[in-house]
Amino acid sequence: MDLSVKTRSQTELVDITAEVRRAVAGTGVREGLCLVTVPHTTAGVTINEAADPSVAADILMVLNQMVPWQAGYRHREGNSPAHVKSTLVGVSQTVAIANGDLVLGTWQGIFFCEFDGPRSRQVHVRVLEGRFR
Ligand code: ZN
Repeated sequence: MDLSVKTRSQTELVDITAEVRRAVAGTGVREGLCLVTVPHTTAGVTINEAADPSVAADILMVLNQMVPWQAGYRHREGNSPAHVKSTLVGVSQTVAIANGDLVLGTWQGIFFCEFDGPRSRQVHVRVLEGRFR
């Protein structure tokens, strides 16, 4: 199943936990793995605290400080900082499925990471059914 995410800012972390949970529930799989991938070169996906939105804001602030907007980049499209952030964060996450639900910690959420928005984005959710031993 694919999710559509519409971002509203140049850089933004969007909590997609509920949508991923719904996609997993829709498969009927009770035990296995959930693979969340982002088919973009200027976006990412990460798992971190979803309870306090300040955490996502702080992560974004630090990423923006780490990767300056101007640094003599060669890429002519002008969005090299977004490509670099995508590589730092990564474009996939794997979460275990147990009892038909994602195995996440109390405070954890899955975030789509926009680094070159605002745009319409895709998130692929794939489920692999299987038993853990
Ligand atoms: Zn580019």
